Amino acid sequence: MRANCWMGTQRVEVRDVPDPQILNERDCIVKITSTAICGSDLHLYNGFMPTMEKGDILGHEFMGEVVECGRAVKNLKVGDRVVVPFTISCGVCNACRAEAFSCCENSNPIPQVSEAVVGHPLCGFFGYSRLTGGFAGGQAEYARVPYADVGPLKIENGFTDEQVLFLSDILPTGYMAAEMCDIQPGDFVAVWGAGPVGLFAMASAKLLGAERVVAIDRFDYRLQRAVARAGATDVINYEQLDGTTVVDALKELTGGRGPDKCIDAVGMEAHAPGLAYAYDRTKQALKLEIDRPIAVREAIMACRSGGTVSIIGVYGGMVDKFPLGSLMNRAITIKTGQTHVPRYMKPLLGRIERGEIDPTMVISHILPLADAPKGYDMFVNKMDGCEKVVLKA
Ligand SMILES: [Zn+2]
Ligand SMILES: [Zn+2]
Repeated sequence: MRANCWMGTQRVEVRDVPDPQILNERDCIVKITSTAICGSDLHLYNGFMPTMEKGDILGHEFMGEVVECGRAVKNLKVGDRVVVPFTISCGVCNACRAEAFSCCENSNPIPQVSEAVVGHPLCGFFGYSRLTGGFAGGQAEYARVPYADVGPLKIENGFTDEQVLFLSDILPTGYMAAEMCDIQPGDFVAVWGAGPVGLFAMASAKLLGAERVVAIDRFDYRLQRAVARAGATDVINYEQLDGTTVVDALKELTGGRGPDKCIDAVGMEAHAPGLAYAYDRTKQALKLEIDRPIAVREAIMACRSGGTVSIIGVYGGMVDKFPLGSLMNRAITIKTGQTHVPRYMKPLLGRIERGEIDPTMVISHILPLADAPKGYDMFVNKMDGCEKVVLKA
């Protein structure tokens, strides 16, 4: 089959690779119809996530048709159309039984790799380095789906791929980011990052009752989409602040108090004007810190006392200059986690069906799988108004 493979920093290639096979009676094989490039794939593309190897198949957002089922998979049959969550979850461990699916204790077959970096094994993910199990990803014609009796969501009504594909990750991720904020009527919510996850976080915050939502980004086209499509009421372009800071601009908007809830939908490759960025960029390049935590620092400093900071942007390791004093002394709650995707898929499918949210709003480009390298290049360089690239296998 053809698959999009990581070949080194800023190098991906669509290559011939062996077809996946059933390895376990709880596996199924999915023939992929649509897959997507995620903002978090750019961390792999840019070489910031350790433990990638040449030839690794990328991609963790995919859907398609079941073409083969292991003997123990009773809920699916050949021909079923499914969306596959990026988290691989066994369904029977303590975490899975508590619906904390991204904390699955069984799904990572090489737990020692992540244990050495973050202290405990990470859950298995598709196409996301050896830290999360080294599974082949879904930017391919076929994928092996482990624990197929737990994760995949069957699509039975006449939705298009584009309407339901993002149930695999970014729609539940944006929604969980907002849900972690425990939004109250009248809340002012600030969202760092107007990429696809940020847009879904904004739309979800509105659905959950936020009164004002401010979008923070450096690209005007993304800020315009945040207002036009995701319900943002205010925008901050941090590269056009003219002598003030994001934190001060947010205080200005909130009568000096700061946003009630702050969402970091940026993660480890944040940008900022000025010295903080130069400092983090240098330390990251020298491998003295894994992440550039600019957005989360700003979120903590801006958040009102007693408010909540929800971190959904991906981080990989250690950071510098983390404002623990501000966090502690001002009673700020931090909530975070990789998304417990299967918990959200059905309820969000219901919201799509009722027209409460339209996931297609984030799509800017639809390309054939063969053009995956072009898609990565456009996405990383924000060319041609790129927001979300869907690949057709
Ligand atoms: Zn993703
Ligand atoms: Zn589990």
